[in-house]
Amino acid sequence: MSLEQTKAEGSASILFVTLGCAKNEVDTDRMRSLLLRAGYEEASEAEEADAVIVNTCSFLASATSESIERTLELAEANTEGVRNRPIVMCGCVPSRYGDDLPAELPEVAAFVRADAEDGIVSVMDGVLGRESAVPAAVGSSAGPLAEPLRTVEGASAYVKISDGCDRFCSFCAIPYIRGRYASRPYAEIEPEVLALAKSGVREFVLIGQDTGIWGRDLGEGDTLASLLTRLAKVVRPFGAWLRVLYLQPEGMTDELVAAIRDTPEVLPYIDIPIQHCNARVLKSMNRSGSAEEFSELFARLRSEIPGMVLRTTGLVGFPGETEEEYEELLDFIQKEEFDYTSVFSYSREEGTRGAEMDGQIDEDVKLERAQGLIDIAEELGFSATAKHVGEVVDVIIDGIDTDGETPELIGHTWFQAPDCDGAVHIPEGEACVGDVVRVRLTESFCYELEGEIVTDEEA
Ligand code: SF4
Repeated sequence: MSLEQTKAEGSASILFVTLGCAKNEVDTDRMRSLLLRAGYEEASEAEEADAVIVNTCSFLASATSESIERTLELAEANTEGVRNRPIVMCGCVPSRYGDDLPAELPEVAAFVRADAEDGIVSVMDGVLGRESAVPAAVGSSAGPLAEPLRTVEGASAYVKISDGCDRFCSFCAIPYIRGRYASRPYAEIEPEVLALAKSGVREFVLIGQDTGIWGRDLGEGDTLASLLTRLAKVVRPFGAWLRVLYLQPEGMTDELVAAIRDTPEVLPYIDIPIQHCNARVLKSMNRSGSAEEFSELFARLRSEIPGMVLRTTGLVGFPGETEEEYEELLDFIQKEEFDYTSVFSYSREEGTRGAEMDGQIDEDVKLERAQGLIDIAEELGFSATAKHVGEVVDVIIDGIDTDGETPELIGHTWFQAPDCDGAVHIPEGEACVGDVVRVRLTESFCYELEGEIVTDEEA
């Protein structure tokens, strides 16, 4: 049967609902691409959909609950509405709780684990009773799509360079959900980046659970540094940027630091989630390092990459964390003057070693500690943002807000990771989404900046 014949049967339309992190957005993009290639259409709202795919998150117990609640809401709309749309649950919740789910959630037509999402076409064909035009791929080895289709809105695209994690931090369920670390080969990443650059993407955000060790499971010479230098050549003709998120401290090799310093396309934006700085707490988390080692690392980075922006993550309330150890983390974050700090309060995740540990901390203490760290993170972050006022920077336009009296351009610059940090607001000026404009930053408020477009002469 040909693709044309399948389309002639009448296209079925699918609503995609994505929960969780950027990695899930990328996975949804890939499923969407496979389904569109097989003749399906995308529905923009539930009312017009023939089926719904919910790509779920299970990083934390709260994310699992949200994923299940959202699925049940959609199922409820099914029973209230006139149409019966099958609901397919994908991603982290089926990966984590696979065997228990069919009995627990009879409302769901099919469950697809994260490592089986490349078989989504045959799953949807099955639940909708259609014949497939495209042979179903098996497992996660479907390889690059002939034409990598991505439905990126705006001018930034996440590119997943690896999946899974080998570190087994004792608070984290990811290795049990996503499996062992697996790098995506360069031969798969490069055509995706090239196709996206040709379609207008101006910033590539490279993501994975542990980006710094990319390539370790591939051939000799495959390192994140080599990936960055090769991708820089691909994006150079398009004037696009490369940004890397989720570097673990151990991944910051001299080769990588040099690649970031010497490759103009790679933004000097370093995201290293330390989680804590106290050596005992880190060991209990099954992580390595200490305040001294981290200080040394950040000093080396600051001297090698002057003017870089530093982002981290702090986790408070881990079992056994004393008040003194918590205070040590506060002092460390303050002393290192991180530009951005994400704060998590420890969540007792089923199946992890941390969940079995003695010394679990009361919820109200954890929340209090998290708020203490948020206060410091905001003080540092707002002040770091304000320091950029007066600079003239390139801004990628991400969207246009038409709610006010006059349209406002909204974009971000090199020191703002999209969806993570603040944005640049330009109340006056004309540009399209995807344009890169020169902007003088005139004011700051919290993590946000305001600016005006300038010409090259004015800059
Ligand atoms: S490095 Fe640790 S926290 Fe990050 S995904 Fe791996 S196990 Fe989880």
